[in-house]
Amino acid sequence: MVDYEAIFQKYNIPTAQSGRHKRPGYSNVVCHACTGNEGFHRGFCHETGSSVCFRCGSMHAPKALAAVLRVDIKQADRIIKEHTVGFIKSSFSGFEPSVESVDISKLNLRPLVKFHKMYLEQRGYNVERLVHFFGLKSTGINTDPFYYQNKIFIPYYLNNQLMTYSTRDISVSTKQEDFKSKYITCKKDVGLLPPNFMIFNFDNIKHRKNKKTLFLEGPFDCAKFPEVAGGLSGIKFPPAQVKMIVENFNYPVFLLDPDSAGQEAAQKAFDQIEVLTGKAPEVYSMDGSIKNPDGSVKDPGDFTYEEVDNLLNELEIEI
Ligand SMILES: [Zn+2]
Repeated sequence: MVDYEAIFQKYNIPTAQSGRHKRPGYSNVVCHACTGNEGFHRGFCHETGSSVCFRCGSMHAPKALAAVLRVDIKQADRIIKEHTVGFIKSSFSGFEPSVESVDISKLNLRPLVKFHKMYLEQRGYNVERLVHFFGLKSTGINTDPFYYQNKIFIPYYLNNQLMTYSTRDISVSTKQEDFKSKYITCKKDVGLLPPNFMIFNFDNIKHRKNKKTLFLEGPFDCAKFPEVAGGLSGIKFPPAQVKMIVENFNYPVFLLDPDSAGQEAAQKAFDQIEVLTGKAPEVYSMDGSIKNPDGSVKDPGDFTYEEVDNLLNELEIEI
């Protein structure tokens, strides 16, 4: 939490002590970010660190605090950090969406096209299951922006609301079996949250609070395990994502690629999970026991369904 009362006391900024602007868990001050009648319109939430004004709306907290204290934003950011107790509750360094819903009308979505189905089947996916669990589609030819065209559309839902999406490019080289792929994610200014703040497949696993739940690095990694696994979109673990895991899953099990960049960030996140929940999460690295024909470590997205069952048995994760 952020101790905004202490901040305002230190800077001699009066806060609402009575009346309708005095709310538990908030410090309300005169809003220096908007004009009009004075009143304690701007609230700073102790728990989330965020700031919202009754008249001019929500604002990135350091920016709002900078206006109130008449300091620069960098300084305000530092002041907030100095008055933050604990790691998780401060979402001030988070993401403020600038839209109310995600507009996908310009992607010209259509059911998965043959080309995309072939790619997925080649990787051993049951395409019907992917469509059923994840709502995969294909983007159209005339998309805006153009670079989304002809890609696999991967939606991220939170409680049935589309929060953001990723698209996957499939391009074939001369050798037919040699697929290359690339993700292009929804732009920040049109998404409600960046993908790595979220858990891909959340709605299908959110009932697993008291069951072991698997977390893998990418959406296609977890697509072989739709009933039990969430996708992390990398292992940077922004605070919002750690919060989502801790609040919704009592028994997270992480299975990471052996060569992951950013293991340090991941270790930090696992330490935080341990501090917040009182127990260390189970963490495994793909140890290479499941291999591709060429001897390289198999990507979880390429597991056969038999290998999936064996892994879940080994990790004692029930469907
Ligand atoms: Zn205001």
